Order: sequence, then structure tokens, then C-alpha cells
Amino acid sequence: MSQPNHANVSRRDFLATTTASVAVVGIMGAGCMQANKRDGKMLAMCGLDCGACPAYVAYKTNDDALRAKTAAEWSKQFGVEMKPADINCLGCLKTKGVQISHCAQCEIRKCGLARKVKNCALCADYPCDKISKFIANVPPAKANLEELRRTRRN
Ligand code: SF4
Ligand code: SF4
Repeated sequence: MSQPNHANVSRRDFLATTTASVAVVGIMGAGCMQANKRDGKMLAMCGLDCGACPAYVAYKTNDDALRAKTAAEWSKQFGVEMKPADINCLGCLKTKGVQISHCAQCEIRKCGLARKVKNCALCADYPCDKISKFIANVPPAKANLEELRRTRRN
């Protein structure tokens, strides 16, 4: 997959908009996200639901129409050119395979992987400044993290 130039797009902006997109799609994922599955969700380190992300869905279902639609939407929203071939992602916690470059470079993801946690909600330092700033702008991610913490305590 060719990598789009996301240099002038903040990850927060990118993912905040991704969140709006993912709300309309639902699909289950598998593999290393086992511990993060909640109510059919496949949570990224930051609490986003990768399982409902168009990039994940398009990759898993090889859906060219969804790739084209998402590339057009994200190109417009983020002000960068994204091609249908860019819309492929195996999810946040995968360390091998195709990934949207923003998520591959995400500091929250890198931090969680270095700490060997599968989700920020499971981190001893939650909520740190990094995740706090992110979820303040992405309520669905915050809700997912808080739900995971609540259910872990029960
Ligand atoms: S890691 Fe991939 S699947 Fe998850 S939100 Fe980011 S682009 Fe979507
Ligand atoms: S320190 Fe913050 S960003 Fe890093 S894993 Fe913990 S909660 Fe997530």
C-alpha cells in the first residue's frame, strides 16, 4: 500500500473524524485484540473501535467501493490526497501487516506497545496527559475506555 502524506494532519483530527465514520459500520475483528473485545468492538490502544473503522472493514472484506468512498471522504476532511489503495488497515494492535500510516505513527499506540498494555484503559498511568488530551476530543473513545475500566473492576 502506498503511504499517504499525513504530515499536515494531526492524528487527533484524523481519528476524531475516523470516529464519526466508524459509527456507521460494525464488524468483528480477531487475533491479538482478543483482550480488547467488548460488545463486538475491537478497541485500539486509544479506545477507538478499529473493528468498525472503514479502513479495517475495507481490508477485511476487500471492499473497493468502501475504499473509494473512504478515500474521497478522508481526503476532503483531512486536506490530503488519499487513494483507495491507502484505505487498508489491520488495526491498531497489529505489529505486522498493513496499517494506516497515522495509526502506525501514533504516539499513544507506541506508548502502549512499549508498556506492553493492550489498551490505555489497562495502563497504570491512565489517564495520562497524552490520552487525556486525545479523549477530550473523541468522546466515543473515552466512553470505550471508561467502559473497559468499569467492566474490568466488576
Ligand atoms: S488503527 Fe487502523 S483500524 Fe484502527 S482506527 Fe486506526 S486506521 Fe482504523
Ligand atoms: S501512559 Fe498514557 S498513552 Fe501510554 S499507555 Fe498509559 S494511558 Fe496510554
